[in-house]
Amino acid sequence: MLMKLDKIAVASGNKDKIAEIKAIFKGVEIISMAELGFTGDIEETGKTFKENAKIKAETIARLYNIPALSDDSGLCVDALGGAPGIYSARFSGEGDAANRRLLLKRLEHITHRRAHFESAVCLCMPDGKAYFGEGKTYGRILQEEIGEHGFGYDCLFYSDDLKKSFGLALEDEKNSVSHRFRALDDLLKKL
Ligand code: IMP
Repeated sequence: MLMKLDKIAVASGNKDKIAEIKAIFKGVEIISMAELGFTGDIEETGKTFKENAKIKAETIARLYNIPALSDDSGLCVDALGGAPGIYSARFSGEGDAANRRLLLKRLEHITHRRAHFESAVCLCMPDGKAYFGEGKTYGRILQEEIGEHGFGYDCLFYSDDLKKSFGLALEDEKNSVSHRFRALDDLLKKL
C-alpha cells in the first residue's frame, strides 16, 4: 500500500460489515458513519455494486471531508439469473431471516444451486477521487440453514474454498476467502 491512510470512515450502517472491514484493514483507524454523526440513509440508486459503492463512499467523503470506504455486496444465484444481486438486502423487504426463507422457496426443486458472493469496494477522497476493488467468492446454496456465524445469507452458503457453510466459519476463516476480503485486497493493490 503506497498511500498512507491513518483514518478512514466506513460508509456503511451494517455493523457486521464494519466489523469485517476492521478485522481486514488492520493498522488503520476505522470510524463509522454513526461516530461521525451521520444518521441518515444513503439511497442506493446505482445499477451495479460498483455504482452503489461509489454513491455511498462519495456521500460521506464529501460531507465529512474524510477518506471514506464503502462496500456494496450481495449474493448472485445462477439459477435465478444472478438475483438477488444488488437487491440482496432488500430481497424480501422484511430483513435477513425473511430473505433467506424467500431464497430457499425460490430454489425449491432446483438442483443447480451454484452461487457467488460479490463485493465492490470504493475508497473516495474528499476531493471526489475514487479507487475501486472487486472480489468474488464461489459456492452453492444449501438446502437448509447451517451454522450460526456471520450474517445475511452466510448460513445458506456452502463455500468451495472452506468446504463448509459460511455459517460454520470463524471470523478469520471467512475473512481469508470472502468476497469482501478479496475486494479490499484488490483495492489495496491500487493505492
Ligand atoms: P448492501 O448493504 O446493500 O451492500 O447489502 C448487502 C447485502 O448482501 C447484505 O444485507 C446481505 O444480505 C448480503 N451480503 C453481503 N455480503 C454478505 C456476506 O458476507 N455474508 C452474507 N450475506 C452478505
